[in-house]
Amino acid sequence: MEHCDIAIVGAGMVGAATACLLAAEGLSVRVIETRLPEPYAPEQPLDLRVCAISQASVGLLAQAGAWQALQQMRLCPYRRLETWELDGFATRFDAATLGLPQLGYIIENRLVQLALLNRMDDFPNIQTHTPAAVQRLTQDSEHATLLLDDGTELRARWVLACDGAESHTRRLAGIGVSRFEYRQHCMLINIDTDFAQEDITWQQFTPSGPRAFLPLPGQHGSLVWYDSPARIRALSAMSNEALTAEVRRHFPARLGGFAVTGKGSFPLVRRHANDYHAGRVVLLGDAAHTINPLAGQGVNLGFKDVACWVELLARAGSDWHEMALAERYARRRRPDNLLMQSGMDLFYGVFSNEIGPLRFARNLALSLADKAGPLKEMALRYALGLV
Ligand SMILES: Cc1cc2nc3c(=O)[nH]c(=O)nc-3n(C[C@H](O)[C@H](O)[C@H](O)COP(=O)(O)OP(=O)(O)OC[C@H]3O[C@@H](n4cnc5c(N)ncnc54)[C@H](O)[C@@H]3O)c2cc1C
Repeated sequence: MEHCDIAIVGAGMVGAATACLLAAEGLSVRVIETRLPEPYAPEQPLDLRVCAISQASVGLLAQAGAWQALQQMRLCPYRRLETWELDGFATRFDAATLGLPQLGYIIENRLVQLALLNRMDDFPNIQTHTPAAVQRLTQDSEHATLLLDDGTELRARWVLACDGAESHTRRLAGIGVSRFEYRQHCMLINIDTDFAQEDITWQQFTPSGPRAFLPLPGQHGSLVWYDSPARIRALSAMSNEALTAEVRRHFPARLGGFAVTGKGSFPLVRRHANDYHAGRVVLLGDAAHTINPLAGQGVNLGFKDVACWVELLARAGSDWHEMALAERYARRRRPDNLLMQSGMDLFYGVFSNEIGPLRFARNLALSLADKAGPLKEMALRYALGLV
C-alpha cells in the first residue's frame, strides 16, 4: 500500500493545474493519467481543440507556474468581442473599457496541458502514474483507496476526479449526473486567413445556431459552426475545398479570404453532477459540469473550481483533510456553475428559433445591452472571471 495526501485522476488542464497548485502548498500528490499528449514542436499545425482562456484563468496558470512556458509556445490575445444577429444590432466589448491589455487568449488545449505537465516535473512531491487508470475505489471516513491497473494500491486523504465529462471516477464514487443533449452539434474548422493576425473574436447568431470566429496566432483562425446534427454530419463529409465554399456562403463577409485546413465535429451536451463530492472523492472541471461552449466558459469554470478547492485547503491549514471542506467547496462552486450553465441555455433557447416578435426582442436586447454602460461592464467582468 502506498500513501499520498492527494490523488488526482486525470491530468488534463484542470487536473494538471490542481496538481501544481497543491504541490506548491507542500502536499504529496499522485497523478493518474491514461494518455499523455504529443509534445510541442513549433512547426506542428495548429490543433483543432482551442479554448478562450479568460484573464482570471491566466492568473491561475501564472500562479501554477505554467504561464511563462505557454507564452514561449503559441497563443493569440484577443482584445475585442462582438456578437450580433441582425446587422446594426450588435453588442461590442473592448478590453480598453476595463483598462485591460486584453480580454483573454485563444490557446490550443494541448499546449495549456503540456505547459502544466512540464511544470509538474519541477515538484519532487508530485508522482505520476501513466499510462494508468483506476480499477477500484473504496473509502472510509479518513481515507480513499485506489487500485490502479498497474497494480499500485494507493491510499489518499482526497481523491480529485479531474477525468473529464465521462468521468469513470465519478461513476466509481456513485455520483449521478443530469444530462441534456442540445439539438445542435458544433463543428470546429481551422482556416488560413488572408488577413494578418486579428485581435477580435465575433459570433453571429442565426436561427440554426451561431457562427463564430476565434483568432489564432499568425494568419490563422478557428471557426465554430453550430447547426443541426444532420447538417454538421453533411459538412463533416465535405472536402476542405467544398467546405471552404460552404463557409463562404454561410459566414459573414467580414471573414475575408480564407482556406479550410482542418475540421472536426462535436455533440453538445450539458451535464451537471448531482453532487460535487461523495465522501473523500471531489469532482472538478468537466467531471462536475459541461456547458454549451457558445461563450467559451467550460475550462474557465473548471479553473474556478481549482482556485476554490486550493484556497479552501490552503486556508484550512493543518485541517486540510477535514471532511467539511468538500461540503464548503460544493456550496461555493455549484451555484456559480449552475448560473453560467443557465445563462448559456437562455442564449441557446432565445436565439435558436425564427419566431418574429422574439427575433425583434432579442435584437433589441443586444442593441440595448451595447449601451448598458456599467451593467455591460459588470457582465464582462463576470464572463472574464474577474468578479
Ligand atoms: C467544441 C468545444 C469548444 C470549447 N471551447 C471552450 C472555450 O473556448 N473556452 C473554455 O473555457 N472551454 C471550452 N470548452 C470546454 C473545455 O474544452 C473543457 O471544459 C475542458 O477541456 C475540460 O478540461 P478537464 O481537464 O476538466 O477535462 P479533459 O480535458 O477532458 O481532461 C481529462 C483528462 O483525464 C484523462 N482521463 C480520462 N479518463 C481517465 C481515467 N479513467 N483515468 C485517468 N485519466 C483519465 C484524459 O486523458 C484527460 O487528460 C469547449 C468544449 C468544446 C466541446
